[in-house]
Amino acid sequence: MRAIKINKKDNVAVVIKEAKKGEELEGMDITLRSDVPQGHKVALSPLKKGDAVVRYGVVLGYLTEDVEKGDWINEKMLTLPPSPELSDLVFGGDGEYPALQPERTTWMGYDNGEGKYAGTRNILGITTTVQCCAGVLRAATERIRRELLPKYKNVDDVSALIHPYGCGVAIDAPDAFIPIRCVKNLAHHPNFGGEIMVVSLGCEKLSVDRILEPEEINDENVVVLQECDGYSGMIDSIMAMAEKKLEKLNQRKRTELPLSKLFVGTQCGGSDAFSGISANPSIGFAFDLLAKGGATTAFSEVTEVRDAVEMIAKRCQDKETVDKLIKEIGWYDNYLKKGGVDRSANTTPGNKKGGLSNIKEKSMGSIAKSGNSPIVDVLGPAEIPTKSGMNFIATPASDIVCGPTQLASGITLQVFSTGRGTPYSLKEIPIIKLCTRHEIREKWNDIFDIDTGDIITGEGTFEEVGLQVYNLILDCASGKKSRAEALGIYNDLIIDNPAPIT
Ligand code: CA
Repeated sequence: MRAIKINKKDNVAVVIKEAKKGEELEGMDITLRSDVPQGHKVALSPLKKGDAVVRYGVVLGYLTEDVEKGDWINEKMLTLPPSPELSDLVFGGDGEYPALQPERTTWMGYDNGEGKYAGTRNILGITTTVQCCAGVLRAATERIRRELLPKYKNVDDVSALIHPYGCGVAIDAPDAFIPIRCVKNLAHHPNFGGEIMVVSLGCEKLSVDRILEPEEINDENVVVLQECDGYSGMIDSIMAMAEKKLEKLNQRKRTELPLSKLFVGTQCGGSDAFSGISANPSIGFAFDLLAKGGATTAFSEVTEVRDAVEMIAKRCQDKETVDKLIKEIGWYDNYLKKGGVDRSANTTPGNKKGGLSNIKEKSMGSIAKSGNSPIVDVLGPAEIPTKSGMNFIATPASDIVCGPTQLASGITLQVFSTGRGTPYSLKEIPIIKLCTRHEIREKWNDIFDIDTGDIITGEGTFEEVGLQVYNLILDCASGKKSRAEALGIYNDLIIDNPAPIT
């Protein structure tokens, strides 16, 4: 049985397949003392109660019982170490760009002009100010897709940006800036080509002036349902505005652009013990190449960075960036505390089944997505980056919230890794899906774009697979459809609202 030990300091290895009692671990002089599920940890030496269990070269936790060499170590046998103190964080300028320049340094995108990220798709995005408009807009969007879209061949799609925010909320609460900024930046997303279209009810708290600039508020861009004559008047108004926008969007053409016009995000979901060995280091490799080539990249998921925050801090290049990191992570610590939990609330039953004992182990795998490049900036949820290179954008780790929040920051493509399997995707951007192991790809062959399982079985390296990821990012940014996109799978836009609902 093949087992993977990542760091020379590790006193555990994970088995690459379900293993039986009595099996030998290849090249490790270890006989398994019990059955071990796929991806789970095996002790490489005898350990006592209270001893540290080390994987990725870091302490995952302390044993609650003695174990022998060859024993299975599961989540019930570990206590979680405290998370690093935010007051101790120091920047170190430790980030490293790869030695090689990427060979491909251009892509085909929709230019949005000076100082703006270019689009990877040409979509009519119709923003709502409030959930109350959802039913009408959904019906109108169906008619736009059926009756108007076929006439405008250069437009890829129409998307109704329906979200749960907008009214019945404490709009002036200190934390309300998060959902407000999210909706505002979604309305201006690079894939919508600067064609603003907003459907408002008319009496909601998220008034149009909170999400549009004064010069954008006019009859060309905003439909107010309360000013329309009945349902048919609402549909007619939305259709008429959509047609004008489609005419303009139809003029857009892809042109060859530098990587500096590209903004790509990443997240993981349904992780397992292989996420940190195969899929996530491959993403890290691809993102290092992107950063080296001048693209903007982002990773997020605060509760999965919390336990490795000192490593992220070291990659920050100045005190200002570390101070921002402390502010964002500290905000999240308080947010969790208010809810009576801490970062350990993150892990799921599926994570544990996949061999991830606790949030420390999950975090070490999660941050592998961020590669080794310097962290150029730390941003709040839905903030738009101004610096090329790797940015940390503070968002929840929840897939369905991290996705729309990164989208609002302006990512035009996301790379998503999974070990357990999730069909998550978004409609407004291509999402490239990576799986961590062959077994899940065999089950869901039609959903994944890249199977990184060769790294687990020893048939490939993360550099080889990472280059494949890099090339697919540029192909999909240039128009190739990702699998989930071709299948038409997409999730709802769940906007994070940490402020009270009234
Ligand atoms: Ca996630």
